[in-house]
Amino acid sequence: MIKKCLYITLLLLVLILSGCANGTKKTAVTAEKTLPEPVPQKVTTVQLMKDTPYATPAFIYESANPGPAVMVVGGVHGNEPAGAQAAKKFCDVKLIKGTLIVIPRANETALQANIRTLPEVGDLNRAYPGKASGTPSQQLTYGIVQLMKQYKVAMVLDLHEGYAFNAENQKSLGESILPGKDDVSSLLAMDAMEYVNKDITEDKKKFNVLANPIAGSTAYYANTILKVPAFTIETSDKQPIEDRVKYSFTIAKFLVASTGIIAK
Ligand SMILES: [Zn+2]
Repeated sequence: MIKKCLYITLLLLVLILSGCANGTKKTAVTAEKTLPEPVPQKVTTVQLMKDTPYATPAFIYESANPGPAVMVVGGVHGNEPAGAQAAKKFCDVKLIKGTLIVIPRANETALQANIRTLPEVGDLNRAYPGKASGTPSQQLTYGIVQLMKQYKVAMVLDLHEGYAFNAENQKSLGESILPGKDDVSSLLAMDAMEYVNKDITEDKKKFNVLANPIAGSTAYYANTILKVPAFTIETSDKQPIEDRVKYSFTIAKFLVASTGIIAK
């Protein structure tokens, strides 16, 4: 009887101890779960041309993990809405590291009017490096340049549209990538072209890699003055808007992901 009592007591002790052990384990798991989360990405909105009819936001997403800064610009020409919409899609992309600066509607008044640009604004894509007190396009580009310099951008993309398919009509830049003059830009553009063309069956709609961005443009400035890889991406407005946005975003995302700040 005493032996039986001792045995039961021992069994109870073992059960209690194992329960404690489990309890300890549970506490450890709970403690692990309550460890501080990684700092979520910080978003800062900078108003370019603040308090003017040309005001437009630059969204700056900064990861807690250090890494390069990339700028994506859209809506430089108001009759090229796919570039603006594709750039806007980057506002929903999660950063792995570094900084992403998104200016989706660079030429706000022109986008609203659905024309290339308003005469009083001028062509943003010929206005770089801009001026602190010049025409609206010079002031806008000056503001964009200040952000490029402040965040020491490592890559710049500018999303546009052409009126035809370049493969069919070489006068149009539609469905092309214009890389900066450096080797990195050229090689990345070739890779991005191969990547997007896998999804395009009709030859005339396939993307080409053309010569360098035009003088005075966003990508030209970033590449020749700041010496960073830069690209002008052109879709064709012969395509439905959904396809233009899809291809513009596909190419841009491929290029941004090459820096490691977002997933492919
Ligand atoms: Zn354009």
